[in-house]
Amino acid sequence: IEARKIFTVQREIFSREPIKIHALNGVSLTLYKGETLGLVGESGCGKSTLGRLILHLDKPTEGRILFQGQDIFAYDRQALKGYFRKVQLIFQDPQASLNPRKTAGDAIGEPLLVHRIVPGAEVQSRVAKLLETVGLSQDSIDRYPHEFSGGQRQRIGIARAISLQPELIIADEPVSALDVSVQAQILNLLKELQQSFGLTYLFITHDLAVVRHMSDRIAVMYLGKIVELAENRELYDRPVHPYTLALFAAIPGLSPGQTKRRILREDLSNPFDAFRGCSFYPRCPERMDRCRHENPELLERFPGHLVACHLNL
Ligand code: SF4
Ligand code: MG
Repeated sequence: IEARKIFTVQREIFSREPIKIHALNGVSLTLYKGETLGLVGESGCGKSTLGRLILHLDKPTEGRILFQGQDIFAYDRQALKGYFRKVQLIFQDPQASLNPRKTAGDAIGEPLLVHRIVPGAEVQSRVAKLLETVGLSQDSIDRYPHEFSGGQRQRIGIARAISLQPELIIADEPVSALDVSVQAQILNLLKELQQSFGLTYLFITHDLAVVRHMSDRIAVMYLGKIVELAENRELYDRPVHPYTLALFAAIPGLSPGQTKRRILREDLSNPFDAFRGCSFYPRCPERMDRCRHENPELLERFPGHLVACHLNL
């Protein structure tokens, strides 16, 4: 992924000049087969925008997204159809993603029919198998979404997503709408499915405990930019970026070694103002003069550990 996404919005009534908001500030990222890459950051930081670009729901303003070496925005119809099968989404809110008038059986069977994965006569038995795979009873097949709990509905959403034997799954806050007691069950199901089917996950969340539980590597995002990227263990042992440190410090009981409590400056800047320097500058407790003018590149500071910050390590 090498993408930049710019939205143009009209600024209030005071000015007629359209202004540009960089939803993705030149994100560059690679996902490896079979891994879970956790993407963490506050809401509105561009995590979902990145997900939408990968899902081909939106086009980058600049840049490319390559899937197995091919530019997904250069696909012909046939290739795009194949891509829509190979890349699936698990939504945050299974309630909203399921049609209330369709039974679980229909919801799970539909993609099988649309993509002609199995002959019509075999759809029922495939649906039964999928229900079993995601831990739902066979009598679920004729029940409607409102008859299930939130966790069960998410299992239906997961069954739909895996029904097409995808390779990559974008999981966008897949457990944040669920009770804490149910979250672990769903996360463990996702892990089991990854093992069984060799799935690759892009796991989008604002929840640091969840991202730590799930991810092989973790990318920390701030205002449309990846500010730190490292293997799970490495990131928690040796967080570097002031924003990552602030995120960690805010979590009780999750304070990596050298983290002292960080007080972030209040961001008094106008988010609409184009800013040449580090986007964390307005809130950074470590900022230097240089940070105001120079946007730090994401560079490898330790093996496999990338940081976008001017601080000397
Ligand atoms: Fe803070 Fe400067 Fe690093 Fe940005 S580059 S995070 S302002 S120290
Ligand atoms: Mg989001």
